[in-house]
Amino acid sequence: MSNPVPKVGFISLGCPKALVDSEQILTQLRAEGYDIVSSYDDAQLVLVNTCGFIDSAVEESLEAIGEALDENGKVIVTGCLGAKGDIVQQTHPQVLAVTGPHALQEVMDHVHQQLPKPHDPYTDLIPAEGLKLTPQHYAYLKISEGCNHRCSFCIIPSMRGDLVSRPIGEVMQEAENLFKSGVKELLVISQDTSAYGVDVKYRTEFWGGRPLKTRMTELAAALGKLAREYGAWVRLHYVYPYPHVDEVIPLMADGLILPYLDVPFQHASPRILKLMKRPGNIEKTLRRIEDWRAICPNITLRSTFIVGFPGETEQEFEELLEFLEEAQLDRVGAFAYSPVDGATANDLPDPVPEEVQQERLERFMQLQSAISAEKLQNKIGQTMQVIVDGFSEDNLLLGRSSADAPEIDGAVILDQVEDEVTPGQFMEVKIVAATEHDLIGVPIEDATIDD
Ligand code: SF4
Repeated sequence: MSNPVPKVGFISLGCPKALVDSEQILTQLRAEGYDIVSSYDDAQLVLVNTCGFIDSAVEESLEAIGEALDENGKVIVTGCLGAKGDIVQQTHPQVLAVTGPHALQEVMDHVHQQLPKPHDPYTDLIPAEGLKLTPQHYAYLKISEGCNHRCSFCIIPSMRGDLVSRPIGEVMQEAENLFKSGVKELLVISQDTSAYGVDVKYRTEFWGGRPLKTRMTELAAALGKLAREYGAWVRLHYVYPYPHVDEVIPLMADGLILPYLDVPFQHASPRILKLMKRPGNIEKTLRRIEDWRAICPNITLRSTFIVGFPGETEQEFEELLEFLEEAQLDRVGAFAYSPVDGATANDLPDPVPEEVQQERLERFMQLQSAISAEKLQNKIGQTMQVIVDGFSEDNLLLGRSSADAPEIDGAVILDQVEDEVTPGQFMEVKIVAATEHDLIGVPIEDATIDD
């Protein structure tokens, strides 16, 4: 059965140019399956296309907005008056959104946020949540495209341009569609998740009739609350080490989002970090890690590093090893530097010979493997919530805890599971053993630990 058709009221004021804008919006609304209704009572949302040319037109527009607010309450304003500073918001702070003239896409984005597009399974070729390549129980949610940084080893900004954040209402709507379709773990991704909203100056938009800032902390909190309603997890990826990353740690401690921070540090030597054009105060980073753990003791820290960066001396590499020892990160990925066509780091002097790079990479991995393995050993005896992924090729039942992102981290091998389980199901398990990369857990009632 399809959902009831959403109903929109429309008031069109102003000159023929405004009229054409109205026609385009109405056409799009109809094309997407919205019903256009002529009374305030029937409408679930009212659009007012305004004129702001002369004083009397401004007055007429403001009156029309006031009437729509009194009679209906849910009002989006577009048109020339929207381009005249804050006059609409100042006169009518209750309006849900304001755009300038000729802003079809922006208007439709606001409409989608307030009154989701109807989905008709008989005529729509794609489901509301879109087509996904991931298993049904987890999905990636991309919140922005591009990046404002210029790390010298990376060419993403030249390929994808500067940061462009998706409207937060649209992101929330996609998240809700995914949860509704059965997704139990949402993986928030971008090139730089912590920069979300910088390009739109952290603009305040609306979601579910409430103001919401286009900003990582606010997004993480809103996603966490939404996920709670659906009994699902939210995991943040690719968090550049900005100072305001500290703000999401309390959300992790409160259980709103998973206590998992994927923050690429890339190196620990201040000189190499400078050559990489990355934040370089490693003492501060260590203090921050300590603070994060004090606030959220069960936080999992994942990071990536590049070894053998051009000019890296043995001493600088050892600084990196010292950092690893001190930071005691849970999950680490590492690569030997390799020049990417177009990266400015290629022009740096003193490239590290390949055999030295490989030797350093091995030393790095040896140290980190020991740290990671010890961290896994320390989890024996703990109980934890695990999401079931399904069977591996060798028929092991696999799940993941908050510490394990799909595809990149380890797993919790589920043993002695007698009841039938399905992917996406959550289980409470006790950890009874650990291998180098994975944990072995059994359902709580069956748990006994081997010494
Ligand atoms: S490495 Fe990440 S933060 Fe740096 S430029 Fe590339 S995408 Fe941006």
